Amino acid sequence: MTEAAHAAAHAAAHATDEASVDQIREAVRSLCARFPGEYWRTKDRERQYPSEFVAAMTEAGYLGVLIPEAFGGSGLGLSVAVAILEEVHASGCNAAALHAQMYTMGTVLRHGSLEQKTQWLPKIATGEVRLQAFGVTEPTAGTDTTSISTSATRKGDSYVINGQKVWTSRAEHSDLMVLLARTTAKDQVARKADGISVFLVDMRAALRNGLTIKPIRTMINHATTEIFFDNLEIPASCLIGEEGKGFRYILDGMNAERILIASECVGDCRWFVDKAAAYAKERMVFGRPIGQNQGVAFPIARAHAQGRAARLMTYEAARLYDAGKPCAEEANTAKLLASEASWAAADTCLQTHGGFGFAEEYDVERKFRETRLYQVAPISTNLILSYLGEHVLGLPRSY
Ligand SMILES: Cc1cc2nc3c(=O)[nH]c(=O)nc-3n(C[C@H](O)[C@H](O)[C@H](O)COP(=O)(O)OP(=O)(O)OC[C@H]3O[C@@H](n4cnc5c(N)ncnc54)[C@H](O)[C@@H]3O)c2cc1C
Repeated sequence: MTEAAHAAAHAAAHATDEASVDQIREAVRSLCARFPGEYWRTKDRERQYPSEFVAAMTEAGYLGVLIPEAFGGSGLGLSVAVAILEEVHASGCNAAALHAQMYTMGTVLRHGSLEQKTQWLPKIATGEVRLQAFGVTEPTAGTDTTSISTSATRKGDSYVINGQKVWTSRAEHSDLMVLLARTTAKDQVARKADGISVFLVDMRAALRNGLTIKPIRTMINHATTEIFFDNLEIPASCLIGEEGKGFRYILDGMNAERILIASECVGDCRWFVDKAAAYAKERMVFGRPIGQNQGVAFPIARAHAQGRAARLMTYEAARLYDAGKPCAEEANTAKLLASEASWAAADTCLQTHGGFGFAEEYDVERKFRETRLYQVAPISTNLILSYLGEHVLGLPRSY
């Protein structure tokens, strides 16, 4: 951890008041200033992983904020993680290359054995071991996670994995993967959520021993991949918690993930609104700044208002999460509102820039592509609405 980041984190640990979190925000902004638009543009163009940025954030200690001090992290809680990711995105950077290191370990922390926690969490906290890969989605199951067919079959002291995952992001830049697989087939369990287990797979040992990674080129620079398991044998000690209970373990971590993604959207929204407002003040057409036209100013003002509202919901969700209170409604609502606010802001920012919005050097088109993801992943908008309809409003279950 750098001295400034350490001082900021130390201050926050001992008084998580607004001023201490502001210090962390300031330190994050100054780190991000070392990675300007040109850096991200080049990475985007070459489809390269932003290793230098990930290393700087790791070195500053930001990726270990959710790991308790007893396991080598700073244990600062989700509210601080949210502040960090928001500032990364508001600075024009992108946390997608690293955010999984913050929260994927939650399954190990909550459901792993003491031995697993002691073995892995301190190394994940320092970044010595990268846990960036989370293998849930499969090509045929899609959003219907209980229909996954990747199987883990017990064989003595091992499990043998067969099947395929898709959209496993950062797999080429990760040492470990949290993997969801069926230990009992769906047609042999009483409830479809039963029979699914979670494993912590050491990818370094697995590569070329039954694990193959194939990158997928997408409209954004996201280092996402598809993964094939062909009789991959892993030690039985890789199982997290009890066999067959994995689906519930994964669900436990969803709220944290949604709140963190919401904070990235809130940061994006700030970036787009600031960028649009600055351009609207300076760009002269018809002898006056374009922002003097209400047709230009109002969409920016509306995007700002949407972003502020989404931010409040995100911080409320994080507050409840840190207090150990139920927060599924707030986490889902935050993700919904924030992803819509960032997209509205992106569209407005592009429109405000006219033709220049399409030029790479303004960074608008890149951020526009990047922020669109959040209405699809890690959970699509319809599924959030479905959750709210069924679980909050008591409407009939649709699937
Ligand atoms: C860049 C990227 C990175 C990703 N990273 C990861 C990762 O690291 N790990 C991982 O496991 N996954 C990852 N994902 C997968 C992501 O979580 C899924 O793409 C997402 O959950 C949607 O699933 P799907 O693509 O299978 O869509 P589908 O399930 O095929 O759905 C397609 C569309 O139909 C809608 N739909 C489906 N069923 C219903 C219904 N019952 N009611 C209403 N609408 C419905 C959906 O909302 C969606 O809009 C990533 C995806 C992308 C694009």
